[in-house]
Amino acid sequence: MADIKKVLIANRGEIACRVMKTCHKLGIATVAVYSDADGAALHVEMADESCFLGAASPRESYLSIPKIIFAAQQTGAQAIHPGYGFLSENAEFAEAVAKAGLIFIGPPAAAIRAMGGKSESKALMEKAKVPLVQGYHGDKQEEKFLLAEAEKIGFPVLIKASAGGGGKGMRVVEDAKDFSEALTGAQREAKSSFNNEKVLIEKYLVNPRHVEIQVFADQHGNAVYLFERDCSIQRRHQKVLEEAPAPGLSQATREKMGAAAVAAAKAINYVGAGTVEFLLDAKENFYFMEMNTRLQVEHPVTEMITGLDLVEWQIRVAQGERLPLTQKDLKINGHAFEVRLYAEDPAKDFLPGAGQIQFLRFPMESAEGENLVRVDTGVREAPYGNGDVISIHYDPMIAKIITWGKDRAAALQNMQEALDETYIAGPKSNINFLRTLVRNPAFKSGKVNTHFIADHHHALLPERVVPAQETLVLSVLGLLTQRGEQVSADPWSSLSAWRIGGNDTDKFKFKDETGEYALAVSYPNLTITLPNGKAVKAHYTPSSFDMGFEAQVDGHKYNAVVCQNGTRLTVMYAGHHEELTYLDPLHAGEGADEVAGKLTAPMPGKVVAVRVTLGAKVKKGQPLVIVEAMKMEHTITAPADGIVEAINANVGDQVNEKHELIALK
Ligand code: ADP
Repeated sequence: MADIKKVLIANRGEIACRVMKTCHKLGIATVAVYSDADGAALHVEMADESCFLGAASPRESYLSIPKIIFAAQQTGAQAIHPGYGFLSENAEFAEAVAKAGLIFIGPPAAAIRAMGGKSESKALMEKAKVPLVQGYHGDKQEEKFLLAEAEKIGFPVLIKASAGGGGKGMRVVEDAKDFSEALTGAQREAKSSFNNEKVLIEKYLVNPRHVEIQVFADQHGNAVYLFERDCSIQRRHQKVLEEAPAPGLSQATREKMGAAAVAAAKAINYVGAGTVEFLLDAKENFYFMEMNTRLQVEHPVTEMITGLDLVEWQIRVAQGERLPLTQKDLKINGHAFEVRLYAEDPAKDFLPGAGQIQFLRFPMESAEGENLVRVDTGVREAPYGNGDVISIHYDPMIAKIITWGKDRAAALQNMQEALDETYIAGPKSNINFLRTLVRNPAFKSGKVNTHFIADHHHALLPERVVPAQETLVLSVLGLLTQRGEQVSADPWSSLSAWRIGGNDTDKFKFKDETGEYALAVSYPNLTITLPNGKAVKAHYTPSSFDMGFEAQVDGHKYNAVVCQNGTRLTVMYAGHHEELTYLDPLHAGEGADEVAGKLTAPMPGKVVAVRVTLGAKVKKGQPLVIVEAMKMEHTITAPADGIVEAINANVGDQVNEKHELIALK
């Protein structure tokens, strides 16, 4: 039995940090690898040693097999943990690791290969008598033939890229007349994303649930299942919230699904942690979708309900030990949820985002053994404002927040509280969406399926409403706090009697999509007059963390944080996250429109068009440069009439956030 003493983690972000935690617990030394974008990243700081790989682009760094193996050899690591994503399901990598005399903490290359293609894995599963969704997954790819197969199955059907992942190359076809166009689209996307046009056709199940089984196998032929996770809450066919166990699943079905998943693993001589994904219909019929031959993002919910450390199991299995428990020793204890906090914009169809983290606070994690709240993250807000960046090069996930409770209601209650204690400013995030989701009555009742978000769109993504009165008042107090800190030597002293420039009154103006809001402030007794004419008394003191303050407004108490980035304010308090534009009189003309018209890049990205030449006369609002970031184009327009004095952008340039693209006179 090999004894692993040093592990290289061939990954970044939260999963790299998560794997290191277990290694350190087991007394195993860790080696981090990092790209140009990650020199100061948390996973590098956490590791005992680190190796630089190359440029930020994954191809130059986290996807480079030779560089990673070289790093392991240089540092004397005996094993490599691939995490998820990147090289985790790459059979060539698993082989290269073994060839270099190192231990791959994952399944054998042959098992990865067997499950690599959706079509091929289905053929294998058919043989192992694992139930499949009705469909065609053979080699014939002519349109006429595939259409005939679709008609045999009956519409609606789903066309899927065999090499697919991340929901790419997938098309639902409702009617035969749309088949040809959908097929061409799926093939085109499959070709560009996976360099493989092969597709399969499946019956498109109406409102199924996504229920997956965690399996584990050792090198001695033992395999067990660690129960299920329900991952039905999805947007763009991708998971955003997971829970274990699956709400309402009968014990009989759980056992049948578990047995099918173990059969699937045994059919390919699986070793290590794997997940068998199924679709489940309303009658609890289940159908194999695919097997993921790695640790999943959502593995913490399984850890919460079993009390096990799956990374520890992975390491034990990799060094040749037997599975620590047998099937009959495994029990479900309570219920767990995981939400994925993403830099994305739910209002824009969950478009991924990026940018620097300005403010970040997570709920307090429970003490070891208590496990009510857990936060897995790879980023932090560095002190003094130079926070980590959600990079356009990698996954936009900021953190996973996981909660446990003795039953579903208790776990959900803990999640509601945990999300209320989560603060994020900087990139746009899905925090408000997650908060609404975990309070949604239909979700609370456990009636989940893969169309849940689409079906409850209006409840989950309400139209922007006018800002709450307290949001406006707290915005004013937030701005006063920031000014007050300059005049108050004692941050704990009350600032309610402070006067600005000796004036008795002051005006503050804010703006959002719903309109403009003006508030008047009178001193010294700090009375704030709201846009509707109502006057409220306020009192505030800066709190222990920077940018935060405690306020009393009209007798109500608030703990609030207001982050200012240019004219953009993020106002956070008791489960609220709102954004406003501050129309600052000292920077007249720098309103919301002008923010969009700034001559600097809004986020790191690539210049895709330069619309002006040196010396050109431009009019206010005229497009100057287009920057593409995170699959979205941002147009930089002229904030005023002027003459182009300098151009610091060429088509194809990679630019950083705040890079000055154009100078206008
Ligand atoms: P990917 O590997 O690209 O993520 P999957 O095959 O795992 O794609 O499917 C992703 C999601 O698409 C599933 O979780 C489910 O919501 C939906 N889906 C997949 N196959 C079907 C089907 N036959 N019927 C209905 N929904 C499906």
